Amino acid sequence: MSASPADLVRVSVVIPVYNEELNLPVLFARLYPVLDALGRRYEVIFTNDGSADRSIELLRAQHAARPDVTRVIDFNANYGQHMAIMAAFERVRGEIIVTLDADLQNPPEEIPNLLAKIDAGHDYVGGYRLNRQDSFFRTYASRLINYVREHTTNIEMTDQGCMLRAYRRPIIDAIVQSGAINTFIPALAYSFSGNPAEVGVKHEERHAGASNYSFYQLIRLNFDLITGFSLAPLQYFTMFAMACSAGSFLLVLIIAYRRIFLGAEAEGLFTLFGILFFLISVTMVGIGLIGEYVGRTYQVVRARQRYHVRSILETKG
Ligand code: UDP
Ligand code: MG
Repeated sequence: MSASPADLVRVSVVIPVYNEELNLPVLFARLYPVLDALGRRYEVIFTNDGSADRSIELLRAQHAARPDVTRVIDFNANYGQHMAIMAAFERVRGEIIVTLDADLQNPPEEIPNLLAKIDAGHDYVGGYRLNRQDSFFRTYASRLINYVREHTTNIEMTDQGCMLRAYRRPIIDAIVQSGAINTFIPALAYSFSGNPAEVGVKHEERHAGASNYSFYQLIRLNFDLITGFSLAPLQYFTMFAMACSAGSFLLVLIIAYRRIFLGAEAEGLFTLFGILFFLISVTMVGIGLIGEYVGRTYQVVRARQRYHVRSILETKG
């Protein structure tokens, strides 16, 4: 039995869920009416990313309530937002894919605006947050990262942190095929797009609960962004290290000259230590940086399963 074109899923909405029990009921209440009003066949794929609260029960109930349009992927543990999205990408049926956070920071009511841009011929539509509602620290740290990304990669986007985005299917297929591990999905998608566009989207405060990202995870994520898309950190470091060695070589010449022609001197000992410590720290940074890339290479080479799906709730489509 072949599906008639009217039966094909047009829009897949992908939502990662990690401890969002307080947000899910409101999300369901706001999201489904928006999608029902689209007049296109759609599906919503939730990935439960190892939540420790009642999120999975709520997702199960939602699947029972709307089995035709709801799919739930249940991870056995927490693998992070981007892996949760990846697992859904590997299973999408729609021609257009929309990603969204579960905490209602991205209003679901903006989805039609993204779809309008896709319909206008773009293959990638990134949202950027108007009046970002995050802590002072998060907002400014994010600006800094934006700046670094702009100058080290050739990815151009106003707001890489905004997950409210829409993609045409070939981009999602390319992302899945790339088998990326430590990745930053908006940036990866951008690198595969031919005709990207952006739209401003409202940003709300988290409906309930606190951000799931710790300071440490944010640093990791931004490392993924920069090292995943450019070798610039390594290259800048090499240039800096070369300048340092030229300087040190000069210093050695000067010290040798003094030693030979002016005699031994002990007073300059601490200056020398200062220089030495500086050079050692430079070396350590360099080793760490190389380690970042080697670690990532190792993960890819090792090709271990990136996440484990415990169960999937869905109806055949
Ligand atoms: N999330 C996830 N796994 C995680 C952390 C977050 O699936 O390990 C989900 C979370 O439920 C939400 C989205 O990713 O839907 C964004 O997370 P959060 O709101 O904590 O990030 P922020 O808005 O602070 O960047
Ligand atoms: Mg959030």
